Amino acid sequence: MNVLVIGGGAREHALCRALSLDPDVESLHCAPGNAGIAEVAELHAVDALDGAAVADLAERLGADLVVVGPEAPLVAGVADAVRARGIDCFGPSGQAAALEGSKAFAKDVMAAAGVPTARSYVCTTPAEVDDALDAFGAPYVVKDDGLAAGKGVVVTDDLEAARAHANSCERVVIEEYLDGPEVSLFAVTDGETVVPLQPAQDFKRAHDADEGPNTGGMGAYSPLPWADPRLVEEVERTVLQPTVDELRRRGTPFAGLLYAGLAITSRGVRVIEFNARFGDPETQVVLARLRTPLAGLLRAAAAGRLADFPPLRWSDGAAVTVVVASENYPGTPRTGDPITGLDEVAEQDEHAYVLHAGTKADAEGRVVSAGGRVLSVTATGADLAEARERAYLAVGRIGLKGSHHRSDIAEKAAQA
Ligand code: AMP
Repeated sequence: MNVLVIGGGAREHALCRALSLDPDVESLHCAPGNAGIAEVAELHAVDALDGAAVADLAERLGADLVVVGPEAPLVAGVADAVRARGIDCFGPSGQAAALEGSKAFAKDVMAAAGVPTARSYVCTTPAEVDDALDAFGAPYVVKDDGLAAGKGVVVTDDLEAARAHANSCERVVIEEYLDGPEVSLFAVTDGETVVPLQPAQDFKRAHDADEGPNTGGMGAYSPLPWADPRLVEEVERTVLQPTVDELRRRGTPFAGLLYAGLAITSRGVRVIEFNARFGDPETQVVLARLRTPLAGLLRAAAAGRLADFPPLRWSDGAAVTVVVASENYPGTPRTGDPITGLDEVAEQDEHAYVLHAGTKADAEGRVVSAGGRVLSVTATGADLAEARERAYLAVGRIGLKGSHHRSDIAEKAAQA
């Protein structure tokens, strides 16, 4: 198989790494990629939001499968453009990706499918906003309807802050606060059959003990020793399958990666949000544990053949990923600094590896920081405690001026 991956973060590095380990993958390409992905795939320049440009590249490379990583190209219809050329593409259509692209659409689908989620109002005027905030009370949950690159959601006890965020959005979803631990559960689907992956948990806040501002995610782990062993089966039955069925019924089948962000509340599981693609950094730990070759699975989903796909195989062990972020992330991050220690991890850590997020090679060929989240340092182990220890040992070898990372990823779960 000849595979092209679209994107250039640690999620795409994790995807490329797993694809490169699949014996059925003959050649692997990534556009635009990053300095780490360049070690496992051939890089190409492309405007990832331009469907025709991506389809042209896929044709030129003779790709059998295109995997679209990030949400923005999916919402822009890039998967449709690739499929229109007769090339298998893993990723939902632009219409189905609205499940992530519009929070109001997602709420509508969930209501029609009977999927448990927070009660909510869609508001477009300040009066509607005030009524909704008043109806739910604090803590207030205010979500920009559209894609906002992780900056669209404000959860606050401060009524003025909630009001200000709501009124800065054109259309906003205001909803009930969900209390309880969060779980990310991914499912691969061809629009009909749903194949859940193993659950993971990520860490959204910038600093230890869940302090500091929200980020794209500072680390993740899998499995979740504290979770009910029936969780995956329950979410498949009450959330994933009904959602996939509802989108097919509407004539806009969802084929690709359906990501359910869940809250485990005292009243049961509730959907916080859907995403239309692999989550970052959870993908790093989920794929670290997947034993089934990835390309075959994604191709079967893209080609509508999941019903015949054999059950997935998983390692019994655990995986932990720790994000190393630039100075000042999630504000305006400092970039362009050299990263040291990458060779040491590769040489000395048998069970840890560094996935690149915001990196690039500079004129002298050195790897330098090029974004807010710079690296996802990932390790496996027999259990979370061992995976965690190995991940932090590897993090300790990395040098990047001003960088920061959380020191408590998977700490509590490892003690469970
Ligand atoms: P999202 O961008 O939708 O993932 O939201 C970002 C974060 O906001 C989530 O990971 C949750 O921690 C939090 N959040 C979103 N919706 C709710 C809710 N209804 N209740 C409590 N927290 C929420």
